[in-house]
Amino acid sequence: MKTKPLAEIVPASLDTGSGTVWLQLGQLLDAAKRRCHHNAHLVYDSNGILHASEAPPPPELTRAAQTLNLPDALALPLLFDGHTHINLCGGETDAQRRNAAQLQEPGPLLEQAQERARAIFHMGVRALRDGGDKDGVGLALSSKANASNTEAFRMARVFSPGPGIHRRGRYGSFFSTPVEAFASEADCVASRAALGAAHIKIVPTGIINFAKGAVTAKPQFSRDEIRAFKEATAAHGLHLMAHASGEDGIGNAIQGGVDTIEHGYFITREQLAIMRDQNQIWVPTFAPVHRQIIHADEMGWDDAIVGNLRRILDGHAKSLGQAMDMGIEILIGSDAGSYGVPHAIGLFEEIWLMSQAGMPALEALCRAIHDNPLRLAPKLEPNTITAGREATFLLAPTAALKDARELAKATVLVRGAPVQQPEIRGLL
Ligand SMILES: [Zn+2]
Repeated sequence: MKTKPLAEIVPASLDTGSGTVWLQLGQLLDAAKRRCHHNAHLVYDSNGILHASEAPPPPELTRAAQTLNLPDALALPLLFDGHTHINLCGGETDAQRRNAAQLQEPGPLLEQAQERARAIFHMGVRALRDGGDKDGVGLALSSKANASNTEAFRMARVFSPGPGIHRRGRYGSFFSTPVEAFASEADCVASRAALGAAHIKIVPTGIINFAKGAVTAKPQFSRDEIRAFKEATAAHGLHLMAHASGEDGIGNAIQGGVDTIEHGYFITREQLAIMRDQNQIWVPTFAPVHRQIIHADEMGWDDAIVGNLRRILDGHAKSLGQAMDMGIEILIGSDAGSYGVPHAIGLFEEIWLMSQAGMPALEALCRAIHDNPLRLAPKLEPNTITAGREATFLLAPTAALKDARELAKATVLVRGAPVQQPEIRGLL
């Protein structure tokens, strides 16, 4: 799809935040209603949005306004990523540099993650539900990000579980600490809650063995162990988030009663039906497997393995279709920070991948804007482009409604002022 360069969509002459601006837009997105206002009028100043409607604004609002006609522009609220690893730079695909980055002390890790959270915000993603880190970075950042919310120079809010919880010696040690450090699942959960965890993250399974095209390791936690995690988590009023792929481990996680299944590769139709009956949420994360195909050369994957990866993604798309037919709640998480998945850009890609897999593009986009925070961070303030709200939103090419990767070209406005994007992509 050919689209115009950003400068032709949002000109550099856009007011930097002092006076009133009247934008005549091609589209303005209402994510809750899953619809766009066509040929919409958006009037704002640094104090907030004065008018957002298909109807023209009253003349007294626009008497001294800078007026811009932007027929190829879409205004939309900032997004929310349902699954990230804020302490990791997903765009770093060099294995040695990736390892070295992870071996740093908590201090530098936190500093880099903070810069990353700012960069993510400036890309148009306002909050992240993190999948955990073992160095306290996510938790430290969550208090900083929350405190910074009133500052002009903001960062993405981080909802962190602290360290994930895994079985000693099994997959997950780079973002988790083992359950064996505690006398019981309940004590382990209590320790996370005491640290200020926003949710609890468990690792019931390993990851896909890409060379074999299957999950080959046995599950880490039994159904009963997961049930114990769930009961303890619920007692603290929190959500239980489960990293699970492969039929056996997914089965344990579903029957153990987790609130969200992350990844869920190789999930069966029968398992989806149980999820529906138990109101469990699925976060499919297409991007990390898609990126294994994109970076196949660097990973050393040959044609046979790339074939496995394509087959896995096709199966995942089929499961997505079944889940949509069944009415399962599906949310959007990129797994940004995992190998090859940059923050923010990875979320845009995940939305596009969901649309390629069969979810209508507008629906996938609206879930990332509206449903993700509603279900995963209900205390987060609402985020709509309506009169009375803060003038903080994205201006993107209208083509982003069909291909969310176009959001990477967006201009982010914070309180009416376009944010100058520094050289931030290397941080993502
Ligand atoms: Zn993850």
